[in-house]
Amino acid sequence: MSRAREIAAAVRGGADKGSWALAAAEKAAKNPYNAFRHVDVEAVAAQASVVNREGLLAGVPIALKDNLTDVGQPCGCSSKILEGYRAPYTGTAVQRLRDAGAVVIGRTNMDEFAMGSSTENSAYGPTRNPLNESRAPGGSSGGSAAAVAAGIVPLALGSETGGSVRQPAALCGVVGLKPTYGRVSRYGLVSFASSLDVISPFGADVRDTALVTAVMSGYDPLDATSAAEPVGDWLAACDRGVAGKTIAVVTECEGDGVEPGVQAALHRTEALLRAAGATIERISLPTLRSALACYYLIAPAEASSNLARYDSIRFGQRPDAKDLLEPYQHSRSEGFGPEVQRRIILGTFALSAGYADRYYQRAQGLRRRIREELEAALARVDLLLTPTTPTVAFPLGARAQDPLAMYLSDIFTVPASLAGIPAISVPCGLSEGLPVGAQLMGRAWDEAGLFAAAAVIEAGQS
Ligand code: GLN
Repeated sequence: MSRAREIAAAVRGGADKGSWALAAAEKAAKNPYNAFRHVDVEAVAAQASVVNREGLLAGVPIALKDNLTDVGQPCGCSSKILEGYRAPYTGTAVQRLRDAGAVVIGRTNMDEFAMGSSTENSAYGPTRNPLNESRAPGGSSGGSAAAVAAGIVPLALGSETGGSVRQPAALCGVVGLKPTYGRVSRYGLVSFASSLDVISPFGADVRDTALVTAVMSGYDPLDATSAAEPVGDWLAACDRGVAGKTIAVVTECEGDGVEPGVQAALHRTEALLRAAGATIERISLPTLRSALACYYLIAPAEASSNLARYDSIRFGQRPDAKDLLEPYQHSRSEGFGPEVQRRIILGTFALSAGYADRYYQRAQGLRRRIREELEAALARVDLLLTPTTPTVAFPLGARAQDPLAMYLSDIFTVPASLAGIPAISVPCGLSEGLPVGAQLMGRAWDEAGLFAAAAVIEAGQS
């Protein structure tokens, strides 16, 4: 698969505007990884025929996670409770991509309602990692990551609440960015934990990721949390290098629990950045040790409230019932899978009278301290470096029965989510033949700095 910018340049230069999208849709329809929930080759042909051939993404095939709305298309969040539901409107980010000429070729599999780290919580079976089909692709945006890793599309959108793009990007060997909270409109993203949710892209390389992020970013009056910060020329930022920058390795993300092969890849990454002119330091950020616990209170608390809307009356199938309570009970106990039910119960408990002070309010206090600590560190250094995940892609089934083991997959990604700062995962080598991701975190609105350093890491591979 060609890069997005090569396809767009060819289409702007007069190449057939539908050919890449049609080829991608056909590949997606036949993919052996269960990466897609829905591919409609005819709809792709119809879109391609009206595509903007002057746009930055002219003719570029993209895949959407099944929690992003696109008018008339299914939007099921890989949940039984939304079976048959079709979106009545198109979200802002998706509309911006389409306005720039992109062609949506299908909807990708995910952990139900974006809750999970392996895509095994989909009601429609797990996605397999294209690099090793016995392994998980990560999650929750595992289908989008797999679609890029398999070369079906050069770009795909996912969503981040606590790492759902960076973590699968790392495990599938592609680039994944979580933009600053507020950078991309959430209008059209099915809510999980609204104070954390960010629509986030995967790309086959750093420059494609920079390009798609720039296209979908920027203020949107339809999302009250979207920000009016100017969007930079992030493609140009990829050529800036890291000379003169200070990058700190977070010591809490070294050692215990980090696989030796992952640690070794990170050491090579440090050396590479140093050789490119960066100053490498070490920094201790003790509050990060509490980040996972904090996240797994705040995210379920917000989810318990957001998911209250699925009652079989407003969305999805409405069962026959003899009284008012019955449809709620039936649809919610049969329509939601075990992980979603676990989160709703946990969140409801953490918010209930008598416990809110003890759990939810304390988690909020902790969240503020985590953010302050990260901001203070980033006032002194330009970027923070960690592995994206402590391990490479784990076997399918290995963590599926053990929620805590699954939650630990997110240990290095949740801090940036809680702090609202941008973070990127970029491939930085192999361990046991599987990809390792390096994570860079930066100051709020400094996506440019992340792209610059990630491009240096990328150039140092091969
Ligand atoms: N894996 C994390 C969770 O299960 C993050 C999910 C996400 O970012 N959507 O909550």
